[in-house]
Amino acid sequence: MYQAGMKSNNLLGLDQAELVRLAESLGEDPFRGRQLYVQLYRRKQHNLDLMTDLSKSFRSRLLQDYSVSLPAVRQVVTSRDGTAKLLFRLDDGTFIEAVHIPEETRDTLCISSQVGCAVGCTFCMTARMGFARNLRVGEIVGQVLRAIEMGLVGENGFNIVFMGMGEPLYNYRNVMKAFRLLTDSEGMNLSYRRITVSTSGVTPVLRQMAEEPKLPNLAISLNATTAEVRNRIMPINKRWDLKELLDVCRDFPLEPRRRITIEYVLLKDETDSDEDARRLARLLRGIPSKVNLIPYNPSPGLPHERPEEHRISRFQEILSELNVSAFVRKTRGIDVAAACGQLAHLEAS
Ligand code: SF4
Repeated sequence: MYQAGMKSNNLLGLDQAELVRLAESLGEDPFRGRQLYVQLYRRKQHNLDLMTDLSKSFRSRLLQDYSVSLPAVRQVVTSRDGTAKLLFRLDDGTFIEAVHIPEETRDTLCISSQVGCAVGCTFCMTARMGFARNLRVGEIVGQVLRAIEMGLVGENGFNIVFMGMGEPLYNYRNVMKAFRLLTDSEGMNLSYRRITVSTSGVTPVLRQMAEEPKLPNLAISLNATTAEVRNRIMPINKRWDLKELLDVCRDFPLEPRRRITIEYVLLKDETDSDEDARRLARLLRGIPSKVNLIPYNPSPGLPHERPEEHRISRFQEILSELNVSAFVRKTRGIDVAAACGQLAHLEAS
């Protein structure tokens, strides 16, 4: 009996052209590769034995060397507010997390792009894991397929945000290939407008991304308004600084009415002053953007505090007075450590 995950050559993550080439290399008609593609991504069939429109001989050939391996769900912890944190075990024994956030209008699935993260933001638990490796394409798409299979997200559309573990632009090739698989009309057919890639500011890769024919939404994890503070809380700023990052954002190609999301974590007495709010509005001049204010979610061992409610409202008010659209992100899943900045599987590191 075929068992997912037993062989190392994962078919999941291959695109249509690669599956066609694979079929041809096994002496099959190229059409068989396209059928395999439809089975994997459109029909979401991950058991080769059940792909009965493929000939038995083709399936046997595939079973000799290939598998269809999805990340294994090791744990699901559901918050009082319905947010579910999924812990996945990958084939090499490492762990990643994804978060399902149910909303009245449209659910959001927050997925990981790396095992751990090398960026080292001081307000983020993932940074404590260090960096293990990039996720493969099948492991990225596999998080979404698992969430669909579990019935967490479904047919009526959902948002996908690359805001889980890892810096997506440090795994650019795999993230963009996963994006193309997720949005391909012959396959998973998810709307590219509902997929957001969030970056801490890898500006050379952002420039490269600006040349792509089809783009996901862009979110920038900004979090500070001066080089001094950003250097301290996001060491990546020492490499590619605030000014360079904002210049790239200013030139980034956007479809009409699309805006860049600016993520801004409010840290008590560090990034939450009135002057910060005014400076932020100045920095964003000329960038079609909206600001997501994220009141810090305290995590054990991290050196920050959450601002009081009146500071959060004042910060938002100042931005609004200066004509910057700013929303305060509702804290979700905090009781199960599934909120922003809380994802980490420290036991696995
Ligand atoms: S906030 Fe994002 S980029 Fe920064 S350490 Fe955490 S996962 Fe990495």
